[in-house]
Amino acid sequence: MFSKQAYHGISTFRQMAASYSITKAQKPLKDVRFTKLFINHEWQNAVSGKTFPTVDPSTGEVIAHVAEADKADVNLAVEAARKAFRLGSPWRRTDASERGRLLNHLADLMERDRVYLASLESLDNGKPFSVSYHLDVAEAIKIYRYFAGFADKNHGKTIPMDGNHFSYTRHEPVGVCGQIIPWNFPLLMQCWKLAPALATGNTVVMKVAEQTPLSALYVASLIKEAGFPAGVVNMLTGFGPTAGAAIARHMDIDKVAFTGSTSVGRLIQQAAGESNLKRVTLELGGKSPCVVLADADLEHAVEQCHQAVFFNMGQCCTAGSRTYVEESIYSEFLERSIVRAEARKIGDPFEPNTEHGPQIDKEQFNKILDYIKIGQKEGAKLLCGGERYGDHGFFIKPTVFADVNDGMRIAKEEIFGPVQSILKFKKLDEAIESANNTKYGLAAGIFTKDLEKAMYLSQALQAGTVWINTYNIVASQTPFGGYKESGNGRELGEDGLKAYTEVKTVTIKIPEKNS
Ligand code: NAD
Ligand code: MG
Repeated sequence: MFSKQAYHGISTFRQMAASYSITKAQKPLKDVRFTKLFINHEWQNAVSGKTFPTVDPSTGEVIAHVAEADKADVNLAVEAARKAFRLGSPWRRTDASERGRLLNHLADLMERDRVYLASLESLDNGKPFSVSYHLDVAEAIKIYRYFAGFADKNHGKTIPMDGNHFSYTRHEPVGVCGQIIPWNFPLLMQCWKLAPALATGNTVVMKVAEQTPLSALYVASLIKEAGFPAGVVNMLTGFGPTAGAAIARHMDIDKVAFTGSTSVGRLIQQAAGESNLKRVTLELGGKSPCVVLADADLEHAVEQCHQAVFFNMGQCCTAGSRTYVEESIYSEFLERSIVRAEARKIGDPFEPNTEHGPQIDKEQFNKILDYIKIGQKEGAKLLCGGERYGDHGFFIKPTVFADVNDGMRIAKEEIFGPVQSILKFKKLDEAIESANNTKYGLAAGIFTKDLEKAMYLSQALQAGTVWINTYNIVASQTPFGGYKESGNGRELGEDGLKAYTEVKTVTIKIPEKNS
């Protein structure tokens, strides 16, 4: 059992504060139920017959083989989604309120299967079960419910147009949406994209990340069970350059939503431009700063900045990977950050008190260890960690660097791993300039008790989300997205509906007089 005490370290997440009431969960190794492609409500092998393994990152062992979709499978899925979107189809005839009811029913089924879903998520991704259960699955359920509520409330306007005309707008679904998601939050990324698309009446072809296909396929089975019509949601497992690229280039996909690396984001936008100019929304990487002023509550700031970068093993687009600390508290901040990083409990994701699991795969593991070497070569001071943990799986010890400066690669490039860079500043404006000196602009954190400074900083920092005296608080109700090369468009909140609707203006001539 988990005590509240044990959760102290992850207090940024409201769910974590609740005491943990599930006895030790089991790895559902022998209970993987879906491994095929979900097209038109049927489980199908890939046209090529190919499969690929998905791996448990805590051991490096194969969990299951799943179907490997390619262009031919994308075509079949798009055909099903297009048919489901045709005027007069069961889905187009579904009342808006009924779309909301279906989404709520899906959320009910996820609640019913919450332990299983969280287990599958931790098995395939490596994140601690407690996090999957209290955060990923819990938030996903809330997000489906939030957008369920919007299904019959996404209305247009009546507009006092010049002349003898009456004009109104309708928010119509865009059509067939291609959605490509990453592996760091498989269930959450799935619902961030599915929920608004379905609430507004679109149909979907989703490609999940090759590292984490299992929970998404299970949700596909719940979509069928919930009673959505066939073809409304199609779920593909496969690789980016094949299945993903086929979605981005498809001539009959009206919109593509992507979360992942900035480099692939560029390819998606390019493919849209070279094909049918499909609408594109992108949620990409980051190199987010946390700015800690000398007057901040030090204990709280150290803990928040620790969680900002180490949560989810550093595999967060919002990772607060550059910690800017005012000169007068710099050395004490460093000392406390080392103590906290060394206390972080690493281990089996299914052990109840594990805070920190493995990195997603060998490739990311190697990439992060390379960045640690680069940091050392560039002259940053390695204070703790810097190496693998254990002798199996892809675990890396929480790593803290001091004496980092803006010019170093570890301060510029997204590492996507448990590596904190702590930088020193003297003047606030100097911190702002340095914090903004990046091609990214996803998030930023500010730690101070001075309201005026907090307001000044929050306006000066170029980021889609600014947190003050907290970090990584993301909820269904608030929009999320990036400035600059961190992306394009917003997800969640009412703003999140915009990407899934076209605004149609209808203008009617009003007769001059009664004839
Ligand atoms: P990636 O961008 O390659 O993969 C994300 C998704 O895009 C996956 O579903 C993948 O199959 C798909 N994809 C890959 N190439 C594609 C292509 N040519 N066309 C269409 N889809 C394609 O990310 P990755 O290789 O898993 O990780 C590399 C880096 O990306 C990480 O180190 C990290 O910096 C970043 N990343 C960011 C996020 C985020 O949440 N913003 C998530 C995962 C990874
Ligand atoms: Mg896996």
